[in-house]
Amino acid sequence: MRNLTFLVILFLLISCNNDKNNHSSIKNIDQVHAENANNYGIVIHGGAGTILKEYLNDSLENAYKTKLKEAVLAGNEILKNGGTAIDAVTNAINILENSPLFNAGKGAVFTNKGTIELDASIMDGKNLNAGAVAGVRKIKNPINLAKDVMLKSEHVMLYGDGAETFAQHLNYKMMDTSYFYTKKRYESLQRVLKKEKEKTKASMSFQDSYIKDAKFGTVGCVALDKQGNLAAGTSTGGMTNKRFNRIGDSPIIGAGTYANNATCAVSATGWGEFFIRSVVAYDISALMEYKGLSLQDAAKEVIHNKVPALGGDGGIIAIDKDGNIAMEFNTAGMYRASMNAKGELTIGIYSENEINQ
Ligand code: ASP
Repeated sequence: MRNLTFLVILFLLISCNNDKNNHSSIKNIDQVHAENANNYGIVIHGGAGTILKEYLNDSLENAYKTKLKEAVLAGNEILKNGGTAIDAVTNAINILENSPLFNAGKGAVFTNKGTIELDASIMDGKNLNAGAVAGVRKIKNPINLAKDVMLKSEHVMLYGDGAETFAQHLNYKMMDTSYFYTKKRYESLQRVLKKEKEKTKASMSFQDSYIKDAKFGTVGCVALDKQGNLAAGTSTGGMTNKRFNRIGDSPIIGAGTYANNATCAVSATGWGEFFIRSVVAYDISALMEYKGLSLQDAAKEVIHNKVPALGGDGGIIAIDKDGNIAMEFNTAGMYRASMNAKGELTIGIYSENEINQ
């Protein structure tokens, strides 16, 4: 009996002590907020694919790096000044959309009919609000229209003419199709059409090794702002020679874009059909939320195991609520850049480690 009493007292003492330790390690919400108050970060991509050194001459390589740097610095400046993750994402993407180097906005690839059809989406991790547009032809910056769908309509996704009518209500300028013409993209389409005629290759560009290697350039951005809010956005022209109003993963919330303050923000690039089927962006968030994986492990699992298991390729950029970042791809390269609250800037193109600038 005396032994039993002794054991009970010992147990009570130990649990009391544990309780005390637990209390001292639990931080209240204000402490957490104060510690994270100056944390922020941004990551951008300009598409993933078989980007090999021999495909880019020095001046083209420099042009890509310069544009990536300009976009990441612009977004970073907004975050540094206390701006929102949503504003950082749209501003950084606008710079890439306005450049002919990337397959989005100005530099979009051509459809089989020689037209352009642009897709974009954006998501706010604070409230899980989202907006998307698909198949728009006259909008200079589709990411802005996606943001307006999120903020100024009761819908999440608008398509084609309807999306453009919505844009007209908001006084968007309708661009002439000539704005989107670039020689490089036009020649890519001609090459695929020629191959189609010769019937030596399958019809869709992503089944054609040459074009598959030349189609990259979808753009995306993820950001964490000083208020602890995450956001993600993606904008693309899709795939060269696409037909039947094909839509890829980029405008699909959960596939090409996802943000949730509880986990992370993700923007994807790659072979859209596989990214839709793998629900790539949401799966990374879900692996963190339900399985407790770190951002890095979740991104690796999806990009190096799940997507290739179906036969797809591509990559993602992501940032989590603590500012950790991931830039994973299973292709030879991915145009990418990041910057954090410490001012550390990285820019990368090929699969070697990012260059610290
Ligand atoms: N994911 C885009 C699409 O399938 C293309 C890309 O990222 O290169 O439309």
